[in-house]
Amino acid sequence: MSIAIHNARLIDGNGQTVERATVIVREGSIHAAGPSRTVSIPRGAVRIDGRGHTVLPGLIDCHVHLCLGAEPDVVQAVERETPTETLLKSSQLARQTLEGGITTVRDVGSRDHSIFALKQAIDRGLTAGPRIIGAGLAICMIGGHARFIGQEVEGVEQVRQVVRAQIAAGAEVIKVIASGGVLTPGTSPDQAQMTLEELRAAVDEATRAGRKVAAHAHGSSGMKNAIRAGVHSIEHATLMDEEAAGLMSRHGVYMVPTLSALATTAACRRGCGIPDSARDKAKAMTKRHQASFKQARRHGILIAMGTDAGTPFNYHGENAQELERMVAFGMSPMEAILAATSSAARLLGMQDRIGTIERGKAADLILIEGNPLRKIDVMRDRSRIAGVMQAGRFVAGPLARM
Ligand SMILES: [Zn+2]
Repeated sequence: MSIAIHNARLIDGNGQTVERATVIVREGSIHAAGPSRTVSIPRGAVRIDGRGHTVLPGLIDCHVHLCLGAEPDVVQAVERETPTETLLKSSQLARQTLEGGITTVRDVGSRDHSIFALKQAIDRGLTAGPRIIGAGLAICMIGGHARFIGQEVEGVEQVRQVVRAQIAAGAEVIKVIASGGVLTPGTSPDQAQMTLEELRAAVDEATRAGRKVAAHAHGSSGMKNAIRAGVHSIEHATLMDEEAAGLMSRHGVYMVPTLSALATTAACRRGCGIPDSARDKAKAMTKRHQASFKQARRHGILIAMGTDAGTPFNYHGENAQELERMVAFGMSPMEAILAATSSAARLLGMQDRIGTIERGKAADLILIEGNPLRKIDVMRDRSRIAGVMQAGRFVAGPLARM
């Protein structure tokens, strides 16, 4: 059976827009996509009139934590839950993510190996959720940032062992912590964490297994260590300097800005439940973060969308808010959409399967009322989502119930 979405505006994820387009979906994949006059609808296809709507690739969020529920104190929340509770919670958060139009996530740090169990449950159809590329435990130094969802290591040999252990458990990406962070008390975002040698060992071991490495880094010294070690993306890249920007651009390292993470924490008033240490750090860095994002754009650094969803008040399912923030800091709506589709797919190494609407790709798409190129905010408005399709099946929105 084929599905034909016709009369819709098509944003294909490659930078092209077609005002009156038809998209044909068959057996889980895009069979055809283009101007309505050039694409014929096969007999017997289920027709969906997309008038007034835009069809675009399902969004890809390169930085989430499905084990965190956007609680004000996520460290405490995880410590109070049993691992089983965390897993059940993350299954609900995965569903919310999908309902928000996000069909793929890279989960860069989870409790135990819960993310791999969740991925398996989604792949088996036991529960609904996005495609997951999971890191498992974040790898950090002893006493380092993110240790509440991480594995503390000391020395090159231990780094290698832990990388192998994550991969053996199911990791499709490796996450390393190259600087202090906001949410872990007692660590400073400015401070470099893990040594250059340790970071190199992580990249070496991951590369051997065909996995990419994502590095958490706020301060520029941590960023530079990670880039020199050969990582593929810098997460946050908050306090970038000229040297770090130059290195990133020369080495083709992606920035995953996670503007939403600092913004939602910093927007909180005293007494909201976010520990003061985290709030103060976020507040002190938001302006610099915005400047770093603009600097990255001036240097032509590759940017892939990531929210850090799960951190305080940074809700799963609201991931599209990141597009608004990127537009507020200078991107065009089209550039923001590219960061969340084809660019993100390239960072994940999945550009052959997802990220664009073209023949042969998996049919992961969103049909949404309105024109995000005119007003990017429509992307976050769930009431406008007519349908979220994953691998050719509507899995969220009114069309999923027909
Ligand atoms: Zn994170």
